[in-house]
Amino acid sequence: MSLEYRTQEFGEEFTEDHRVYITQDGKIISPFHDIEIYPTDSEKIVNVVNEIPRFTNAKLEINKEEKMNPIKQDTKNGKVRFITNVFPKKGYIWNYGAIPQTWESTEVEDKLVGCKGDNDPIDAIEIGSATKRTGEVYRAKILGGIAMIDGGECDWKILVIDTADEMSKTLNDIEDVKKNMPGFLEETREWFRNYKMPAGSPPNKFACNEEYIDSNKASEIVKETHAYWKKLVQEKEHEGISLANTSQKGTPGHTSEFKAEGPEFKSRKEPKEAQGFYFLKE
Ligand SMILES: [Mg+2]
Repeated sequence: MSLEYRTQEFGEEFTEDHRVYITQDGKIISPFHDIEIYPTDSEKIVNVVNEIPRFTNAKLEINKEEKMNPIKQDTKNGKVRFITNVFPKKGYIWNYGAIPQTWESTEVEDKLVGCKGDNDPIDAIEIGSATKRTGEVYRAKILGGIAMIDGGECDWKILVIDTADEMSKTLNDIEDVKKNMPGFLEETREWFRNYKMPAGSPPNKFACNEEYIDSNKASEIVKETHAYWKKLVQEKEHEGISLANTSQKGTPGHTSEFKAEGPEFKSRKEPKEAQGFYFLKE
């Protein structure tokens, strides 16, 4: 099977019209349902769909509700969302995306965390040195993870590195990240703790004593969320989630082709928002 994933883009960036669809061999597919989770026979290597390029602020995510799950900017009170820089960090400090064919179930309690999932594909943060585009699909190695709890929901963050990154040779597990990237894991935890505070939310919490899990445990978690997705995609319908797909033959959501329509995409822009910093107070 071809791994030629590309994007088809509509609307102007940083507006509600903006959509980034993923295509394979020129056809629109769903990044949630149609991209294989495991591109090889290893459960440590997964495909990742990038949503947010590192050091940017627009909260772009795979939209669950719309057919073929395009990447869109999240909105709040009718306005597109940007996260505020928490001093001295700029935007998201890694490439932020999701692992396809996974679902953090709202029905099953996570064993390690003791609460139910956040209803999304599992999140992946990529810690390599290249900046990834929105909609870019790449192969990554699972290094570990941390369990954030956001409003009582379990929200795993899986640490990965692109297998093509130079550092991928050195990094195989969470201990290697600790050794080779001093301070990185602590700063990452603090980032997740604080990033919603500028908007007036309380700090986020973490399960497992705020500790990172290793790559074995993290790939177990990913595998579990893959099993939840497998059940989900068999459903006839699911409130708030489009199950439309082009690859899961025999599922109620299977369709042969999807044509998207929207305003023409013209050119890349610089966001005017998300300048300046928020300062944490003791
Ligand atoms: Mg999540």
